[in-house]
Amino acid sequence: METPNHSHDQQHFLLCPFMAQGHMIPMVDMARLFARRGVYVSFVTTPLNASRVRPTIDRASRCSNLPIRLVELRFPCEEAGLPEGIENVDVLPPSIDLFKRFIEGTKLLKHPLELFLSADRDFPPPTCVVSDFLLPWTLDVARGLGIPRLVFHGTCSYSLIVMESVRRYGLWDAADRPKKETMVTIPDMPCQFEMKKGLLPIPLSCGGLADFEGGAVKAELDSDGVVINSFDELEAKFTEAYGKLMGNEAYNIGPLSLCEGGVQAERGNKSSIDQEKCLSWLDSHKQGSVVYVSFGTLVRLGLRQVMEIGEAMKGSGRPVVWVLKQGKEGSEEIESWVSRFGEGLDWMVIVGWAPQVAILSHAAVGGFVTHCGWNSTLEGLCAGVPMVTWPHFWEQFVNERLVVEVLKVGVRVGIEVQTEWTKEEVMGREEIGVALENVMGGGEEGEERRRRVRVVGEMAKKAMEVGGSSYVNMTRLIEDVKGYVKENVVEDA
Ligand code: UDP
Repeated sequence: METPNHSHDQQHFLLCPFMAQGHMIPMVDMARLFARRGVYVSFVTTPLNASRVRPTIDRASRCSNLPIRLVELRFPCEEAGLPEGIENVDVLPPSIDLFKRFIEGTKLLKHPLELFLSADRDFPPPTCVVSDFLLPWTLDVARGLGIPRLVFHGTCSYSLIVMESVRRYGLWDAADRPKKETMVTIPDMPCQFEMKKGLLPIPLSCGGLADFEGGAVKAELDSDGVVINSFDELEAKFTEAYGKLMGNEAYNIGPLSLCEGGVQAERGNKSSIDQEKCLSWLDSHKQGSVVYVSFGTLVRLGLRQVMEIGEAMKGSGRPVVWVLKQGKEGSEEIESWVSRFGEGLDWMVIVGWAPQVAILSHAAVGGFVTHCGWNSTLEGLCAGVPMVTWPHFWEQFVNERLVVEVLKVGVRVGIEVQTEWTKEEVMGREEIGVALENVMGGGEEGEERRRRVRVVGEMAKKAMEVGGSSYVNMTRLIEDVKGYVKENVVEDA
């Protein structure tokens, strides 16, 4: 491929995110960060996902004049046996079978991407693929172009080591369920680490995706590096250990949510509430007085659980911003219960998409009830907000461990069982209330927790500034890619 108008030194990264909000949102931020460093960026996705991120990408391209564009490929719903419009895990009904079909659909994007690239004359030739772990076929695309592939997972290195160890040593096994109380040691952690078997991240192989998972891990081992949404001051030794485990260079380049100084409009989706209205509601509240409750994009709560949360929040007497997902816990029944129950209370209930980073960054927010998805966790840390930790599945229990036991900036609500994607465990109002009171008040211990999380937030901001650790790591990454291209690409005669 030859693009006469572009210099041979011009870097062009293809960013290939997996289509789940927790994976896409940080890659949009990453795209803007690379573009700001003079790298051309193609953000590869499908129409539904493109429509969600287009305002952000367009703003970066038009208003900030960054060399960034969307590459839109049709998602093959029909070929994959999925209903039309199922292009993101957050609109996928909770079913392992449908998830498998979704994965099959993503594999079919390889050929259209290659076709697009072979005809593309608008951007310089690609020099690097940055791909989600769950899109292992992008290794072939990178190899076909003779360029490096870097892997992105979406979570932190602390959890990645646990996840890889569980897979490598077969530590979680469906047949082991009766032994789920047994403590398991994670041998590859660079510190002593034990966890209850039942709370370990369940590998994809247990959902009948063993081949897919094996292929994705092999593709990562054969790749050229791993990019982490984290920062050295938080977990340099874990990132280094994860890199070693996978035989790859590892780069902490986050927290990516700080790429615009923290407050961003329409991050990840169109907000269901006017951001200004939301912020002025927060303006009318005292510093550190408001509780923010949100469980990310995939956790589904049933009416009984929502009622317990409602009672606990009411019992706390504190102002609350509560996000309910549309079509999930935002079902008609639940919505009408919450609106009746919340009448007269100092609450803001958002049904749909909330401007989470903007809310968390507001001084009025004093506590975050979170499911411990890594993005939410990191956003809470950046904002210096202590957390009530309420993990549900995957690596969320490991993220909780980092928040509560390592950083000591959160209080566990006390979940001891993994929620299966489709089932519900109910946590009572008393437990929720106690954890909330500890986080929002909590006496001297609470003060200490708030001080600690503010320090972490300050370190996070410094990491992203010019000359900060993540800024320097991104420079290193770009230089390494340049070196790879020089070593591996045979110059045209
Ligand atoms: N998010 C948001 N508004 C919402 C719900 C979620 O902005 O109403 C964002 C949140 O800020 C985070 C991401 O969606 O960046 C969710 O990712 P996370 O890893 O926390 O959880 P997941 O949804 O993957 O379980």
